[in-house]
Amino acid sequence: MSRATTSADTGGKSGGLARRGLLLVLSSPSGAGKTTLSRKLLEQDFGIAMSVSVTTRAPRPGEVDGRDYHFRDVAAFEKLGDDGALLEWARVHGNLYGTPAAAVMEQLATGRDVLFDIDWQGAQQLTGKAPADVVRVFILPPSAETLRHRLETRAQDKPDVVARRLAGAAAEIEHWAEYDYVLVNSDLDMCLENLRTILAAERLKRSRQTALAGLVEGLLKGL
Ligand code: 5GP
Repeated sequence: MSRATTSADTGGKSGGLARRGLLLVLSSPSGAGKTTLSRKLLEQDFGIAMSVSVTTRAPRPGEVDGRDYHFRDVAAFEKLGDDGALLEWARVHGNLYGTPAAAVMEQLATGRDVLFDIDWQGAQQLTGKAPADVVRVFILPPSAETLRHRLETRAQDKPDVVARRLAGAAAEIEHWAEYDYVLVNSDLDMCLENLRTILAAERLKRSRQTALAGLVEGLLKGL
């Protein structure tokens, strides 16, 4: 696939200048469309890479180890935590989830931004570790009915799992005000467009454009 070079797709560069990578965190209750949004964003923007989490949850039909998650047992997960290999971790809906640190560092080193599909606990931990680099976006469903319908028709989870996720939805939504941006996913295309706009603007922030000082110095010398 050829690489488009729109301003939102310039990876580690902005207007041709080097910049600091950012950590784009997406949180939402299960069923608000976050996974679809992430997938579409990654398809359209080659300057951002997904952080693939480690989890003790069993794979859903169609999920692939290493692509959707690194599926591990509890002992292996705990070892990663003990070894300091996780940037953050949390218990969500009764399972353990965590972000492998090394992969994030590798992506940042190659000049790519990193996308995280993590819950509010993970967002808080990442913010504590890299406050200047984190951009937090919360996705809300347009209504309780929509969320319930999406969870029930996903048909991948058993009824008790759906019930646990609905109960967890309220706990997740309670943290909406801790985020820098909030998007209501009533229309997927519009939501994606807004997400891309956020990413484009955040990439252009002065503080992220590390080469600007040098450029300005040169400009002033030439005047
Ligand atoms: P699911 O089981 O539906 O894939 O994910 C359940 C929840 O766990 C989602 O809200 C998702 O954002 C969150 N999650 C997935 N990976 C991580 C992670 O590495 N860390 C944290 N804190 N939450 C995660």
